[in-house]
Amino acid sequence: MTYRFEFRPYRRPFRQTIKTSYGVWKYREGIILKFTDEQGRSGFGEVAPLPWFGTETQAQAVAFCAQVPHQLSASNGFAILPTMPACKFGFEIALSNLSRDIHCGELEPHRCSALLPAGKGALSGWAALWAMGHRTFKWKIGVAPVSVELAWLHQLMKQLPLGAQLRLDANGGLDELSAHHWLDQCDRLGHRIEFIEQPLPPDRFIDLLKLAHRYQTPIALDESVTTLDQLKTHYFRGWRGIYVVKAAISGSPGRLKQFCADYPIDIVISSVFETDIGRQALIDLAVELSVLMPYEPQRVMGMGTQQWLPNDGLDDPDWEALWQRLDRIA
Ligand SMILES: [Mg+2]
Repeated sequence: MTYRFEFRPYRRPFRQTIKTSYGVWKYREGIILKFTDEQGRSGFGEVAPLPWFGTETQAQAVAFCAQVPHQLSASNGFAILPTMPACKFGFEIALSNLSRDIHCGELEPHRCSALLPAGKGALSGWAALWAMGHRTFKWKIGVAPVSVELAWLHQLMKQLPLGAQLRLDANGGLDELSAHHWLDQCDRLGHRIEFIEQPLPPDRFIDLLKLAHRYQTPIALDESVTTLDQLKTHYFRGWRGIYVVKAAISGSPGRLKQFCADYPIDIVISSVFETDIGRQALIDLAVELSVLMPYEPQRVMGMGTQQWLPNDGLDDPDWEALWQRLDRIA
């Protein structure tokens, strides 16, 4: 069996720039991969790097794709270095999609969390998302002084209907004192805060463990466990809290599934602003993981990101149409 390989880069401006504790993010760049087999079946994949999480850059991913032969046979496979986790994910998905013929439906809003605007914008931003059916919201913190953000949090919790759950994401941007302030306040809110994500930077693992033991509000690791190897390391060092897995940048989805089958963990599959191709791969993965390890409570996916991206056709579930449109953009 031989395959034809093609790729097309994309660049999507966010509708609003995204503010995180890393700074401002204006564009989502990535690459769509396409394999075509001898029967004319195609398999699409997506490379969606996130260099500030330690992945390859878009330029490195493009350079990698450019040296992959246009004609490949099953026997002349190619190796992808562990330093290129986004490529590893994209190529594995593309090849597995060659034999995927059923397109799953769209994820209902209550099964994925929706990203709120950062800062005070959350106060006016949640209602439209609630009306769309979202019940879990994610709010980036650590972008303004802690006293200011805690005041916004209290306003937000007064506004949110009962039944709403809030995930806080500090992106590793808090100092230890601020982390204590946040967790103390979250504990006082009962169980309305589902978890706080990466309050301290990845190099503060022992302090993260201490926080997890001291407070009732669960803590999730995200930046600490970007790749599967990092996830394994943290598991074996004793992390029994939540793992946020940005599957599109964590490397091989097959190896992730294998690890989760061997060691059931409390996991949230999360988006890094993929097109429909990457998004569908994450939904498939979450469904497979929920069968593999029926962890209770099953956490909704970190996927409500589409309202941040333009109507440029890259969320089209018809992937051939998506691919063709990309050609016109490039
Ligand atoms: Mg996060």
